[in-house]
Amino acid sequence: MAKADKPEQPASSRQKYRRWILLLTFIAIPVTIFYISPIVIMMGASEGIVTGSFLLYIVLFVLSLFAGRIWCGWLCPMGACQELGSRLIKKNVKEGWPNWIKYGVTLLWIAAIANAFFAAGGVQGVDPFYGTINGISVSSLQVLMMVVMIFTGIFVVAFLTGKRGFCHILCPIAGVMVLGRKIRNLAGWTALEIDADSGRCTDCLTCSEKCPAGLDVHGMVRKGTMENPDCIMCATCADVCPERVIRYGVGKGG
Ligand code: SF4
Ligand code: SF4
Repeated sequence: MAKADKPEQPASSRQKYRRWILLLTFIAIPVTIFYISPIVIMMGASEGIVTGSFLLYIVLFVLSLFAGRIWCGWLCPMGACQELGSRLIKKNVKEGWPNWIKYGVTLLWIAAIANAFFAAGGVQGVDPFYGTINGISVSSLQVLMMVVMIFTGIFVVAFLTGKRGFCHILCPIAGVMVLGRKIRNLAGWTALEIDADSGRCTDCLTCSEKCPAGLDVHGMVRKGTMENPDCIMCATCADVCPERVIRYGVGKGG
């Protein structure tokens, strides 16, 4: 069927919930950003302090062993910022080397954290509320301006490179969670995944058009390899496929 003839499908309830959750995580940024920021980890490390964001990233790594990059698809405010402005971002990130930059960023970031702890004489303490005032992250106009600038930068990267461009190319959290997913795939234990019954696919391309990460989901279905390091486990493809080809649930991979 030609693209112009394809009726627009209403969003499934699951995707409506997902977008509401993303909106809430975005609105909560002034409170939560210091518990999430990769920059705050480095600030804490320079004083030998294990921050709330450091603790969160340990949780995210463990989560990725069982649910891949579900954080990115459902809860991350940096992801939310790109997806909420998705009407302005039409193209997909090009496959290839740009997607590898994030692994370099992750390695440099981990090395910088280790070096900062080393220079501070090791771990001096744990402070989940590091940098916050009464638990609130944005406590002054200066901090607010910095946060606005960072999120504007994230959106501009996505605007220039494509859907979820910051997640594809620069995010260090992505590198950590991809590592967790790779470990799970090697071990083969039961985890959240998408799989597909390609025999039922009618090549309508809706899954590829609606994937918020701009992945070639139809190509993945046809190749029979649904595992993709840039999949954010959002379930959109499973929810929009008119033939119910794609399944979102727990499985053992392969
Ligand atoms: S492949 Fe499916 S689950 Fe993965 S990011 Fe795209 S739409 Fe979401
Ligand atoms: S998997 Fe579903 S949505 Fe994707 S091309 Fe096939 S039928 Fe269309």
